[in-house]
Amino acid sequence: MMSNPNNNGVQTFDVVVVGGGAAGLNGALVLARSRRTVLVIDAAEPRNAAAAGVHGFLSRDGTPPGQLLELGRAEVQRYGGQVRHGRVRAVTRDADGFRVTVDEQPAIRARRSSVPPPRVPWPPRPSTPT
Ligand SMILES: Cc1cc2nc3c(=O)[nH]c(=O)nc-3n(C[C@H](O)[C@H](O)[C@H](O)COP(=O)(O)OP(=O)(O)OC[C@H]3O[C@@H](n4cnc5c(N)ncnc54)[C@H](O)[C@@H]3O)c2cc1C
Repeated sequence: MMSNPNNNGVQTFDVVVVGGGAAGLNGALVLARSRRTVLVIDAAEPRNAAAAGVHGFLSRDGTPPGQLLELGRAEVQRYGGQVRHGRVRAVTRDADGFRVTVDEQPAIRARRSSVPPPRVPWPPRPSTPT
């Protein structure tokens, strides 16, 4: 599935997802399966990078976080979604949708955008089985 360059040659997607962690990739997968053009932009700094394995995710117990994300990116791409490395610096709204600025690259346009929520520290909790 291709994005649509508009008259100025600017790439336009139905949705630009900011952040390619588990949440962003899962959202992008659902959108791509729904035949939306979707671009994930990911700075590749997932919170759980330091963990040896993922727990509490059905069927993936112990999977290294990097491997989970690799599988996720492949799934998104299999349905036509695109995943790019970069950091979104600004998302601004105008009459036609959203203008997404990624690092020093030319702006991208989106009809919708999805941005990650701010990071909230986890509350203290009892230890869990390893
Ligand atoms: C040590 C540790 C262990 C954990 N273990 C588990 C576990 O076992 N099971 C579990 O369910 N959860 C665990 N978590 C919580 C886990 O981090 C989340 O479940 C999961 O990573 C959340 O995914 P996410 O996509 O919301 O965020 P993240 O994984 O943090 O991904 C966010 C992504 O968005 C990118 N991003 C942010 N801002 C921008 C921007 N402006 N432009 C481009 N990209 C951007 C980041 O670089 C990052 O790659 C753990 C957390 C920690 C800290």
